[in-house]
Amino acid sequence: MTAATAFRSFIQALPKTETHLHFEGALPLELLRRVRPEFARPPASWAWDFKFRDFAHFEDELIDMVFAWFTTPERYHEAARMIFARHLAQNVKYVETSFASGCIEFGGVNGREVLAAIRAAVPPELEVRIFLGIHHNGAGPGMRPVLEDALGWKDLAGIDLHGGEDRPLEPWTADYWAAARRAGKYTKAHAGEFMGADFVRRVLDELQPQRIEHGARAVEDPSVVAEIKRRGVGLDVCPISNHKLMPGVTLANHPIRGLFDAGVTVTVSSDDPISFGNTVTDEYLALAAHRGFTRAELARLARHGFEVALLPPEAKRKWLAEIDRLASL
Ligand SMILES: [Zn+2]
Repeated sequence: MTAATAFRSFIQALPKTETHLHFEGALPLELLRRVRPEFARPPASWAWDFKFRDFAHFEDELIDMVFAWFTTPERYHEAARMIFARHLAQNVKYVETSFASGCIEFGGVNGREVLAAIRAAVPPELEVRIFLGIHHNGAGPGMRPVLEDALGWKDLAGIDLHGGEDRPLEPWTADYWAAARRAGKYTKAHAGEFMGADFVRRVLDELQPQRIEHGARAVEDPSVVAEIKRRGVGLDVCPISNHKLMPGVTLANHPIRGLFDAGVTVTVSSDDPISFGNTVTDEYLALAAHRGFTRAELARLARHGFEVALLPPEAKRKWLAEIDRLASL
């Protein structure tokens, strides 16, 4: 076996998690092609050196693809079966994925039905927690009743703040995040991808999320990094997504190195694979190739995923022990 093959085998064998995955952004290319034959070739953004001009460029292309497929709960179910099969093929054992409230608001699907459709596709070997992703202005009059109802959806694990970070953080948000926690839901928020460390701090203070999605720019202020650690908040980082979308960031200078070395609980995920052409495995390989992560460090990243996972302690112990065994070989 060559060294490269052995390294790939090590990553494959590691029990892994994916905790930052936009469900609609994980649309399999094969399904997109059924409704949009012009995608016989993958999107241009799958190229390694592709860089989106800005968030609007990314969002416009993503929405165009997503709305072409996700029109019914049946289509969510069909996509979910393929998405979760790919997780199992990569030895991913635990997934957190969020579906977008925008598909309820603008696509006309029923949120409760979408949740049930995704849930019904979960294979027995995979643990999946499903979240509702809500954009900054996602609580208009038509959506208020849906958001209130959603806190009673038994199979909904939690909520996540999505969408353009530079749009105003509206007054309803903090109240809703608090209400979600009172209803037993886990709370996340996107911050620190486009807006800086000040915004991460503001989100921590106002929304008090239990996890931050991205959080990369927290590295710009050591006091924010310290606050993240003090609160025990994990960061669900997506290096390849950031490489192709985040201004000024590439894999070669990615803040995950600084955050990891500072002792922050960082995990790795693919974010929106239909836009970036990536997998969880690609994220580990990229960090090894471009950011100097060793086998032991990749094993620690995998550990972090299970440490933050919404799993009972005995389930965590099983996967953590397996990671430790593989790292010691
Ligand atoms: Zn995201």
